[in-house]
Amino acid sequence: MKKVVKFGGSSLASAEQFQKVGSIIRADEARRYVIPSAPGKRYSLDTKVTDMLYHCYAAAERGEDFSEQLMAIRSRYQEIIDGLHLNLDLTSEFEVVEDQFRNQAGKDYAASRGEYLNGIVMANYLGFEFIDAAEVIFFKENGEFDAEKTHKILSERLEYVDHAVIPGFYGSLPDGRVKTFSRGGSDITGSIVAKAVDANLYENWTDVSGFLVADPRIVKHPRVISTITYRELRELSYMGATVLHEDAIFPVREAGIPINIRNTNAPDDRGTMIVENTCSKPKYTITGIAGKKGFVAVNIEKDMMNSEIGFGRKVLQVFEDKGISFEHMPSGIDTMTIFVHQDEFEEKEQAVLSGIHRLAKPDHIELESDLALIAVVGRGMRSTRGTAGRIFAALAHAHINVKMIDQGSSELNIIIGVKNSDFETAINAIYDIFVLSQL
Ligand code: ASP
Repeated sequence: MKKVVKFGGSSLASAEQFQKVGSIIRADEARRYVIPSAPGKRYSLDTKVTDMLYHCYAAAERGEDFSEQLMAIRSRYQEIIDGLHLNLDLTSEFEVVEDQFRNQAGKDYAASRGEYLNGIVMANYLGFEFIDAAEVIFFKENGEFDAEKTHKILSERLEYVDHAVIPGFYGSLPDGRVKTFSRGGSDITGSIVAKAVDANLYENWTDVSGFLVADPRIVKHPRVISTITYRELRELSYMGATVLHEDAIFPVREAGIPINIRNTNAPDDRGTMIVENTCSKPKYTITGIAGKKGFVAVNIEKDMMNSEIGFGRKVLQVFEDKGISFEHMPSGIDTMTIFVHQDEFEEKEQAVLSGIHRLAKPDHIELESDLALIAVVGRGMRSTRGTAGRIFAALAHAHINVKMIDQGSSELNIIIGVKNSDFETAINAIYDIFVLSQL
């Protein structure tokens, strides 16, 4: 049995958090490959080490004195080392970092030191081998992740290593320079390592007990989703639910390895299992609700639109030419509506409108701003009659006017457009009808 365990920044923010992580790892022999993030926030106004590194490096780039900032970063690690009573001295490591900052080794190099140094501390604490991610995670010259080369070298390197710590977030370019994934990228490293060792499970330890059915800032104490499929997760994360980096899904998904989201601060909670497929029905018909505010609906009308071949293409051409991506496009017989992000659209609004008039010659265009989109996602909706009916009854009951409905033919989700000001009420109404009324 092999498990790859990734710990997020808040799980490794202090010596106390490290101790929790240590007990988690020691509690299960299968937890053999550990991917640490950089130390995160210890309290809400604290700064993540990664952000401290970016700032410190920016000062170095401007030619300013950055020694104090680097000292502050060092003391974050020293606090952990002291708190764990480790026999470890990072002096020479910090000398190298300082030199590299002076030589302007790059922003990615700078940011990656957060994980690199934390990996050294973690390996020392656990007594595991430390493997520098720059030696086993590779990017191509154009900056894309090199999955093939990485898989080959990483799986060979780990074949005879029983226990290892591999820092998350970075790897190296063909010329040896360090490159990072985008923010939150340690999740991706964990997934790549899980695939390379052919793990039975990829555990991703964070500070929440899994994915929640709805955003806790909107719904009070929402329930945890016990099992979610990759497709459902994709729908929910696209709509703003974030726990896991989106790109972390691909490597393990290809290899059929499930991900388990767990809480370092509540290790007995079972968290959320993310799986390719499952016959287990979601508990509440729906799996989750997520949404985003700040959309504009561009309603376009033209008599006999439905028989005019190429009308839709001309309209979309205008959006493409102006570099605006659209989110949804419900259509009627003589109308089509395009949902776009308000902040992207606002500055190009007049150019888009005149472009549509010129190319597609509609009868009428109407704009409606300050709209929100809500996705109700669930594999269980396909086999349950009346889901849509229940959603709309709940919304009507809460006096919410529904502006748009879009149900994909996969029946995996229903997207609803409402006014921004109705957003929170709508999510609560849907949550109540599916979850609270089932308890
Ligand atoms: N430390 C990096 C960040 O703050 C990567 C990670 O935590 O996954 O984005």
